[in-house]
Amino acid sequence: MGETEDYCGVFGLYGSKNCARKIHHALHFLQHRGQQYCGIATSDGKEVIIQSHKGRVDHTFTRDDFEVLTGNFGIGHVSLRDRQPMTLHSKLGDFAICFNGNIVNAEELIQELKSQGYSFWLDSQVELLSKLVTQGKDFVEGVEQVTKKIEGSYSLLILTPKGIFAARDKFGFKPLILGENGGEFAVASESRALQNLDMKITRDVKPGEIVFIDGGGFKTLKTLESERTAFCAFEWAYTASVDSVIDGLSVDKARNKMGAMLAKRDKGKLQADIVAPVPNSGIGHAEGYHLESKLPLKSVFLVDRYGDRSYTQATQEERDREAKNKLSVLKDAAEGKKIVLCDDSIVRGTQIREKVKELKKAGAKEVHVRVACPPLMHPCRFGTSTRDYDELAARKMSVEEICKHIEADSLIYNTLEDFVKALGREKNELCLYCWDGKSPFKKKKED
Ligand code: SF4
Repeated sequence: MGETEDYCGVFGLYGSKNCARKIHHALHFLQHRGQQYCGIATSDGKEVIIQSHKGRVDHTFTRDDFEVLTGNFGIGHVSLRDRQPMTLHSKLGDFAICFNGNIVNAEELIQELKSQGYSFWLDSQVELLSKLVTQGKDFVEGVEQVTKKIEGSYSLLILTPKGIFAARDKFGFKPLILGENGGEFAVASESRALQNLDMKITRDVKPGEIVFIDGGGFKTLKTLESERTAFCAFEWAYTASVDSVIDGLSVDKARNKMGAMLAKRDKGKLQADIVAPVPNSGIGHAEGYHLESKLPLKSVFLVDRYGDRSYTQATQEERDREAKNKLSVLKDAAEGKKIVLCDDSIVRGTQIREKVKELKKAGAKEVHVRVACPPLMHPCRFGTSTRDYDELAARKMSVEEICKHIEADSLIYNTLEDFVKALGREKNELCLYCWDGKSPFKKKKED
């Protein structure tokens, strides 16, 4: 799909001799969550040291960086939006902070703090969070301040010379998971970063929970009250890596179920030769379709191993170019076939239209597009920018019109009910704002 942006990934580690190197390694496994900036902050128990770069972790960190980043605990960040972590000298002491999420009322809060005499350097969201957390008498009270004031989401890490605070907003929008290995304790945006460091998964950080991590392991300092959860449903459909498990649900299994739901809709109605994914995020959905329908699963696109995940490019032009470069058609696989083509979602429809056209040009007889997510009706407000309202195809066109626009022979989206069923959760446990426009922040005006 490749038409969304604004993701971040966080990682924290306590108790490792090669702390900065290990954080760097873990960030590599979170790189799909943002490729424009990366940063690491460490501590030796006395001070907080930071190094950040523009670009990917593998391309930017040098031996010199690792010589500077001493200490046996630290935090790291990958981002599309800005450089994090950032450091601050404050009344609570020196600290570094980074987060994954989005603060909807950031501008308003920044103006409010400025009018109270606070100074800002970049007017960034992480800067705002850094000021808000210092309003408490300690970091726990600081995080409570954040929760009281913001409308939005955060999975945040704070590094101090004593240890690491990890906090997840009270709705649990964005994932945050704990892992350990011997005397090492870690926290990550996705379980794959822990698995690839040979760490055992301990558990997810609960919505509203503030955990302190030091040599003694994980200690819950407080769990903020919440009337409901709002786990981002898009994580399972697209954002997260297929080898991750979020809040107890495997991303792979969730995608398989979404694909199976689509296959059930087609049972007895569609005659096709093969089912194929739009790689990579369509793979799990196509597998699920294949398992349910028994149609042969076949690749019709070759993924360029040097291509980027296109949504993490900064501009739409870059994203479209990258999406085109990333996938080339396997002519032999497509020629003469009636293809069921599975994708995670349609934002503008530009990229799926290109893919359908390329398959037809390669000789595909028919291309039937099946989409795991229901039609996207609202841009995300809580950490995943699914573009502006006027860019969303489903706001401007009916399903029939989109089908015509993308030049497919048929087009079916999962219904919201089937989509939720595939996740095995109740509607009110999930954030479904992209589709139903219902914000869990009750008092705020909804779009
Ligand atoms: S609006 Fe959509 S992408 Fe954003 S948190 Fe909710 S479900 Fe996730």
